[in-house]
Amino acid sequence: MQALKDKIMQEGKVLPGSVLKVDAFLNHQIDPVLMKEIGETFAKKFANQGINKIVTIESSGIAPAVMTGLNMGVPVIFARKSKSLTLKDHLYSTSVYSYTKQTTSEISVSKDFLGKDDVVLLLDDFLANGQALYGLIDIVNQAGAKLAGAGIVIEKGFQDGGKKLRQQGIRIESLATIASLQDGKITFSESGAN
Ligand code: 5GP
Repeated sequence: MQALKDKIMQEGKVLPGSVLKVDAFLNHQIDPVLMKEIGETFAKKFANQGINKIVTIESSGIAPAVMTGLNMGVPVIFARKSKSLTLKDHLYSTSVYSYTKQTTSEISVSKDFLGKDDVVLLLDDFLANGQALYGLIDIVNQAGAKLAGAGIVIEKGFQDGGKKLRQQGIRIESLATIASLQDGKITFSESGAN
């Protein structure tokens, strides 16, 4: 998606450890116009698959997921990272290791909102080593729901999450794939469906 790539080039910052900081439009401040186009793009890519639920993880997956849900006319569920008085049992739960925070957290989705009749599109802001998607896939499997695929805003193609998941036959559509962040320079991968 060209507008996303332009935005990454204009406002993305490369941090040590091959981390791309996109706080200016995705992870802290959110650009609604860009999110609108992201939602439209995912909705087109995943049209006619019978998808009736979108599942993401709080917090940075929520904006692109809601815009996609708006365009597809389906509800959006975000897996929560902390339990609360209102969310403590009747849950699907799994643990996810966060690449950026270097911590493991438990994520949960209420059984009220996901079940065996659902066809799910997973959505997330980044795909790096794949831990976040593996966690969401585990939750979809626990629910007995069908997985239609995953939409990713920014894939770090130099980390192996996308490769491993595609090898397992999971459809993954990324809107921008980064080939390298070496020496502070952002290079996009020309291959794939971007
Ligand atoms: P994975 O679980 O695939 O290793 O990483 C995906 C998750 O880690 C995303 O949900 C995102 O929050 C975070 N993440 C991984 N790499 C980056 C990065 O380079 N920049 C930012 N902003 N987040 C990242």
